[in-house]
Amino acid sequence: MVAAWRRARGVEPTPAALSARLLAWYDEHRRQLPWRAAAGRRAEPYHVLLSEIMLQQTTAATVSRRFVAFLARFPDLAALAAADEAEVLHAWQGLGYYRRARALHALARDVTLRHGGRLPSDQAGLRALPGIGPYTASALRAIAFGQAAVPVDGNVLRVMARLHRVETPLPAALPELRGRAEALAERERPGDLAQALMDLGATVCRPRKPRCGVCPWQASCAGHGAGIAAELPRRTARAARPVRRGLAFLLTRPDGALLFRRRPPDGLLGGLHELPSSPWQEGELALAAALGHAPAAADWRLHRAPVRHAFTHFLLELTLAEASTAAADGGPRGLWCPAGELDRLALPTIMRKLLRQAGALSAAGAPAGAAPVR
Ligand code: SF4
Repeated sequence: MVAAWRRARGVEPTPAALSARLLAWYDEHRRQLPWRAAAGRRAEPYHVLLSEIMLQQTTAATVSRRFVAFLARFPDLAALAAADEAEVLHAWQGLGYYRRARALHALARDVTLRHGGRLPSDQAGLRALPGIGPYTASALRAIAFGQAAVPVDGNVLRVMARLHRVETPLPAALPELRGRAEALAERERPGDLAQALMDLGATVCRPRKPRCGVCPWQASCAGHGAGIAAELPRRTARAARPVRRGLAFLLTRPDGALLFRRRPPDGLLGGLHELPSSPWQEGELALAAALGHAPAAADWRLHRAPVRHAFTHFLLELTLAEASTAAADGGPRGLWCPAGELDRLALPTIMRKLLRQAGALSAAGAPAGAAPVR
């Protein structure tokens, strides 16, 4: 009602006018990203899929570095479908949230088996694939298939809350914000509109310090006009994440090899390599009980500062315990990896942090002492 009144008075532009202004801005300011097609060209669906899955919980800067290497290793869905899961997980290193890599691999096999190697282009067909949520399906439809869809993620919700001064906290405001974004849908250049919204959220209407002075929507932005843009969107307070603690054991053999194990295929960090550890439990670290989970009886030396990592539903603090084994039988059974070959393992971020603390990995992630790759 208020919007219609403002529109009638010429204060609030129509969705079509907003889209047109945003597209004009995009033509001048679009980001150059390795997965994007040249201006006026339709992007390759596999490139869009891969970038969108990688971008789900990882920054564009990190994805830019990893995307090209992943694509060189798996240039199309058929190559990805033919690969071993361990190979895919290894190539995913540095991106985190490995569940995405396993889903992408399953998707490649599914598309190869059931769709002749071509991604379906409709929302239902896309949503039926592993790892494809409503956002990724809409992004694919708009960017790869030229359909009038608007992918709505947290960035777009933030921009809509500010543009329309929606002060209802999230998640209650979701339907309204989603509706506002979807009203921008555009038939001529749907892929560009989707990418323009992504660019605006990433480079101009940023979470903390929106750059309203260079925004194509400044004149129409109700949040900016009221001086409260940076406070939006409001959110209902969320409960603090619990902290889990444990010991991680770094056992070294006389030949320098380190002991690892593989996590079960399902669940958190499924299928990845890790240092053996005690169970990760809430509350203070019960040292004696945790040491009972050590892979060998040894003189375990504990690092003073735990290594921390934030997962979606809990925070993890692992204290590193180091020891050497001189056991004549080669030490406990497990995966013994030579210190110079750690980059052959699929290691989650928390394990890389621990190995860096121990000096087994350099800050850049290469095995300490290994020759640099050029
Ligand atoms: Fe965001 Fe400012 Fe643009 Fe409004 S004017 S959409 S708050 S950057």
